[in-house]
Amino acid sequence: MRRSASVEIDFNALKHNLSVVRQFSSNAKIVAVIKANAYGHGMLAVADYLMNSVDAFAVACIQEAEYLRSKGVQVPLIILQGFHSEDQLKQCFELNLEPVCHQHWQVDLLLQVKVSKSLSKSLKAWLKVDTGMHRLGISAGDAASVFQRLSNSNSIDSVYLMSHFANADQPEHASNSQQLLAFNEIEKALNIESSLANSAAILSMPDAVKNWVRPGIMLYGASPLSNKTAAELGLKPVMKLHSKVIAINSLNAGEAVGYGSLWSSDRDTQIAVISVGYGDGYPRHAQAGTPVLIKNEICPLVGRVSMDMITVDITDMRNPAVIGDSVELWGDTVAVDEVAKSASTIGYELLCNAGKGL
Ligand SMILES: *Cc1c(COP(=O)(O)O)cnc(C)c1O
Repeated sequence: MRRSASVEIDFNALKHNLSVVRQFSSNAKIVAVIKANAYGHGMLAVADYLMNSVDAFAVACIQEAEYLRSKGVQVPLIILQGFHSEDQLKQCFELNLEPVCHQHWQVDLLLQVKVSKSLSKSLKAWLKVDTGMHRLGISAGDAASVFQRLSNSNSIDSVYLMSHFANADQPEHASNSQQLLAFNEIEKALNIESSLANSAAILSMPDAVKNWVRPGIMLYGASPLSNKTAAELGLKPVMKLHSKVIAINSLNAGEAVGYGSLWSSDRDTQIAVISVGYGDGYPRHAQAGTPVLIKNEICPLVGRVSMDMITVDITDMRNPAVIGDSVELWGDTVAVDEVAKSASTIGYELLCNAGKGL
């Protein structure tokens, strides 16, 4: 159900950000990552929009792929977690999905499974190796033998290699070059098409751009790098979170505002109440001082974020706010990453939360 706060999606910005991906990844094929409802931007709408401009989509799990196929999306779909069971593996054949294999049991199952004749007999698979993140992936030492087993199987069309960085958001981190080195060795030994770079690596590690790149957050216009803003990277925000001023109150010096009576001022203040809160995906832990744009003026958040409301100090506005004024929580002027930082989290999380209802 729609509430007062509204999420708008700017598809022109998405198109622009895709052109930035291209600029940084020369002729690599593009896998647009649209897991978690396309980072809150609406998975189907984003898939429809990008369908003819990218080479594949990546989602986290079979359920997401099943949904896209049921809506007629025919583009290649990579399943980043692969299948979790034999039934899900059968769905990979039925729906022509490309599972990532990161565990030996998945490889074993893939080599044994009997699929009915009516289904496609073979599929493309991605072999994920662990080059240092230690989350998903078979060990580097097992890569060659697992690759051999997969490529000898009749049920597999082709095998691609992939891995994922643990610290690409910090370009100076020593583990990045170690992971790249480990990946290059395996890639050379197997001599197959591969994919390594997420957004952060696309923007900061040209050598990590292989045959396929996997941009997520940069498509949505937030920064993947801890030391650069989205604007500095030439990215445009795709999601805008807006709401309205619903009340204006005058407080005397010393009177506290909101739950916990956390914030008070030693001067008389004007407080605007905005109809947005953590129920809309605005982060509850946003600190006093988080920027909120009211009618082209940045004002500081004050007091605790409630489920449906926030309070903002508008005492210093040059052109005082009135009831009904529109408010930008993040978008063209306030970067989602700024709000995230003020709440000790990352833009990814805020986008996912705000767009859950899309
Ligand atoms: C989510 C994900 C990506 C995209 O990461 P961004 O930082 O959003 O670009 C790429 N690869 C894998 C394996 C992922 O899980």
